[in-house]
Amino acid sequence: VGEPSDQWKEYRGAPTGTDIECEGWRQEAALRMLNNNLDPEVAEKPEELVVYGGTGRAARSWDAYDAILAELRELDDEETLLVQSGKPVGRFRTHERAPRVLIANSNLVGKWDNWDHFHELEAKGLIMYGQMTAGSWAYIGTQGIIQGTYETLAELAEQHYPDDDGLRGKIVVTGGLGGMGGAQPLAVTMNHGVCIAAEVDEERIDRRIETGYCQEKTDDLDEAIEKAQAAAEAGEPYSVGVHVNAADMLEGMLERDFVPDVVTDQTSAHDELEGYYPSGYTVAEADELREEDPETYVEESLDTMERHVQGILDMQDEGAVAFEYGNNIRGQVEDHRGMDEAFDYPGFVPAYIRPLFCRGKGPFRWAALSGDEEDIHRTDEAVKELFPEKENLHRWIDLAQEQVEFQGLPSRVCWLGYQAGDAPEEHRDGGGTTAGAGDDPDGLTERARFALRINELVAEGDISAPVVVTRDHLDAGSVASPNRETEAMRDGSDAVADWPILNALLNCAAGADIVSVHDGGGVGIGNALHANNHVVLDGSDLAAEKARRVFTTDPGTGVIRHADAGYDEALAEADESNVAVPMRDR
Ligand code: NAD
Repeated sequence: VGEPSDQWKEYRGAPTGTDIECEGWRQEAALRMLNNNLDPEVAEKPEELVVYGGTGRAARSWDAYDAILAELRELDDEETLLVQSGKPVGRFRTHERAPRVLIANSNLVGKWDNWDHFHELEAKGLIMYGQMTAGSWAYIGTQGIIQGTYETLAELAEQHYPDDDGLRGKIVVTGGLGGMGGAQPLAVTMNHGVCIAAEVDEERIDRRIETGYCQEKTDDLDEAIEKAQAAAEAGEPYSVGVHVNAADMLEGMLERDFVPDVVTDQTSAHDELEGYYPSGYTVAEADELREEDPETYVEESLDTMERHVQGILDMQDEGAVAFEYGNNIRGQVEDHRGMDEAFDYPGFVPAYIRPLFCRGKGPFRWAALSGDEEDIHRTDEAVKELFPEKENLHRWIDLAQEQVEFQGLPSRVCWLGYQAGDAPEEHRDGGGTTAGAGDDPDGLTERARFALRINELVAEGDISAPVVVTRDHLDAGSVASPNRETEAMRDGSDAVADWPILNALLNCAAGADIVSVHDGGGVGIGNALHANNHVVLDGSDLAAEKARRVFTTDPGTGVIRHADAGYDEALAEADESNVAVPMRDR
């Protein structure tokens, strides 16, 4: 990727404040979000352009990064910039309501859609791994995943321990304290539980401790188990990072007859070469092996994964609740080691998340482009005022204010969905948009209501600069990923990738400001297709018009995708919210 750019060294994160370098706030938002992704507080290895998730990058090379910034500074309000795998490749005259930036990352034609071919192209400088929010400039640090992790564990507790206080008294064992996985210890303690997390890279554990995501670290497994058991018995939340390979830790626990209540994993197992660490090596030794002998590295990495999955299955046999946490470790050992029983434990989406997706609910996130934390606190109040009946949402916002440190641009995440209600009078006409879906033009979705409220606060000067609203690619209607978001779909349509493409096309038509389509996020090249969008709320009527449209079409595709697959919850949502589902009674 070359030597880090001087511009990046100068920025060291997103520019903040109300003065802009670009022609308008839409372009400026893209420039700030790209730099926010590469803020040393936000990204895992910013000097290599790596944001998170193994090698998920924000730009293909440092030259490409400089060129993207130059293009964004020149881009006018009627132009659209095209970015192909992290490199700017074209600029066209379009129109004001069109997206300012369109991004496609890591996409390959089916027959060639695998890591081997990807790595060949990457070595020639022709492609980049964009993960999900790395290459679409929507990553906001570990805070971005924390609510999803918190909600998943809350749902697990609700299903398995309905009479208990969340995870109080329960021990969760996991692996991986990277950009996303680092959210696990805090999400467990927020649910009152105890977390033991294996991590081979001691610096990553230190980073989670510094940012308040993990409490302690140790090299000693006996000490970790002892302290965890004592905390669980006392009903106290506690988290510890154990400096060890996750596969070795699970075997060590089983040898000691220690079985946790819950077992999962978030090492970067989706990438056997650059994400996952084989057992028997320090990080430095493994990094050297990868350079010198990548084939041996891959073989040893997959051997360790096989033992790792076996450990999870053995713990499940002994009574632990096991689930895969979206890193495709089951798919890896099934594909490369023929271990069919890998799928004897479920993925987290069918187990805990799908009912939310059916309602168009997903992780909605927003960042204050001012850099002012007060702006996010104002949005915290606004979301609580807007949805007084949502107790969980209130609890989440209070916990986040108390326990989640901002990284880079102050941001917040919460899960909002479709649920078109009655539109407030002031939003009924104007902009000439079809505010709701189906034949209820007045219906505003939850996401649209909240975005419009933020836009008003920006217009009124209650928030000091525009706010950009975006989300994870992991959302209701924006992903095809048979080992994760679309695992075990009711109608067997797991691998049908038309849905994320329709989602991206529709969000362009609806006027999102940045739209992206990627391959391979979360689960590795060839295993997923997914899309994302951003809308910049600058207080203008145009922003309101875009927000009304995009925050209807976007969660709406989640409702129709699941309605088409025959989910009752999605069909009920479509009925209640007047979402048109042609051929629903076929
Ligand atoms: P990351 O690359 O930033 O971190 C992975 C961490 O795992 C690193 O710190 C690495 O040192 C550690 N690790 C690797 N192999 C190990 C081993 N054998 N034992 C112990 N530690 C090991 O990645 P991330 O952003 O934290 O994402 C982790 C995984 O989760 C990825 O596969 C990613 O695609 C997936 N993911 C899941 C979700 C979700 O919602 N469930 C969301 C994003 C990412």
